[in-house]
Formats: sequence, structure tokens, C-alpha cells
Amino acid sequence: MDTIFSQIVRGEVPVDVVYQDELVTAFRDIQPQAPTHIVIVPNKPIPTVADVTEADEPALGRLIRVAARLAEEDGIDKAGYRLILNCRAHGGQEVYHLHVHLLGGRPLGRMLADPE
Ligand code: AMP
Repeated sequence: MDTIFSQIVRGEVPVDVVYQDELVTAFRDIQPQAPTHIVIVPNKPIPTVADVTEADEPALGRLIRVAARLAEEDGIDKAGYRLILNCRAHGGQEVYHLHVHLLGGRPLGRMLADPE
């Protein structure tokens, strides 16, 4: 399924791309929830965590390493940051192209919001 993130990977949507290689693409979230809010996606459109196969392991390993590098570049690595990977409805996933959120630049509080 073609999502907005596949279009971003292909350079068809004007976003602030901060990193791209043959496996992953990273760009600033359009609605940042923290001073640093970067979305990192595998270039291959894997819908959810539940769809990951062994063949995807290099891309997902790269994704984590790129997150750490971007945290360093944004100067948030020493204070710390959070990586979030939402899966399906209860996880709050909106875009069905697997992605990791890199958030930081301020204290992020408890891991989960109180249930509404
Ligand atoms: P999730 O809820 O985990 O699926 O997160 C999807 C994220 O994608 C949200 O934080 C959105 O703000 C972000 N997003 C959606 N469209 C764009 C876009 N065109 N450029 C940058 N970020 C986007």
C-alpha cells in the first residue's frame, strides 16, 4: 500500500529530510511533539511491526543506528531521548508504513499518557 511515507521516501512530498540512504529515510515530523521530533522509516513500505520479516533486519538495525546518530547531531544524546514505534490501532499508529519517532529536547515525562 502506498502511503504518504512512501511518497516522502521517493522525494514526492516537500518535507525536511535530515538523512537518507539506501535503506532508511529520516525527516522532521510535520506536527512536532517535542523540540526534536524526527520520523525514521525503512525505504521499503513495511506496514506494521507485525509484518517484519528476517529480510528486513538490516533496514531495522540501520534505523536504530541512524536514530542514535541524529540524536547526537541534534545535541539531545547526552540528556536523553525516546524512540517510539506505534503498532496498529491501540498503539496509535496513523500511517501504515513502519516508522520510529525520535523525540527529545525536553523532559518527556512518563512513558504513557493517562488513559482518557
Ligand atoms: P503514527 O501515529 O505513529 O503513525 O505517526 C505518524 C506521524 O507522521 C505523525 O506524528 C504525523 O505528524 C507524521 N506525519 C504525517 N504526515 C507527515 C508529513 N507529510 N510530513 C511529516 N510528518 C508527517
